Amino acid sequence: MFYTGGWVHVICGCMFCGKTDEMLRLLRRFSIAGRRVVLIKPRLDTRTDEATVVSRSGAHHRAATVDDSRGIDAVVGNADIVAIEEGQFFDEALPDVVTRLADAGKQVLVTGLDTDFRGIPFGAMPRLMALADQVTKLTAICMVCGEPATRTQRLIDGEPAPADSPLIVIGGMGDEKYEARCRQHHEVPAAQLA
Ligand SMILES: [Zn+2]
Repeated sequence: MFYTGGWVHVICGCMFCGKTDEMLRLLRRFSIAGRRVVLIKPRLDTRTDEATVVSRSGAHHRAATVDDSRGIDAVVGNADIVAIEEGQFFDEALPDVVTRLADAGKQVLVTGLDTDFRGIPFGAMPRLMALADQVTKLTAICMVCGEPATRTQRLIDGEPAPADSPLIVIGGMGDEKYEARCRQHHEVPAAQLA
């Protein structure tokens, strides 16, 4: 595919579907062609302005961190390609920022979880997907049955996390982990009444 003007490409899916690997593959391809690339991620628990995005396969790329979508313009500079990681953790203004960058002729790639651990559309991702020129929705493999997985299962102490557990956990709460699951094996118990 040729990119002659602005373009928005969203790469989404559940955890373990290879979003970051796909993003880094595309960035490598752009870099080889001499295009100027900037990779941006939201600042979550890190204090640093410079970070590295590392995929589960070990591929990595230097990244700038920003506090919110308003911080994106300041780090874009003269880049031709603007890549944004973890789109689901940005605020609701992200689709507007991305649209403006594309209107200015930049190719914008955004990765993110399309749904949260409850299976509910995550943050600004659904609007971003609707406004995008191209959406790549990747699947993982269900850790229960081996079928294609589209959902992120959160487990706390080995049990499916209830619907009212916090959406974003930084630093962890107890023994928390995630698995890719298919629709059939994705479990979200109803909120626990205190
Ligand atoms: Zn399954």
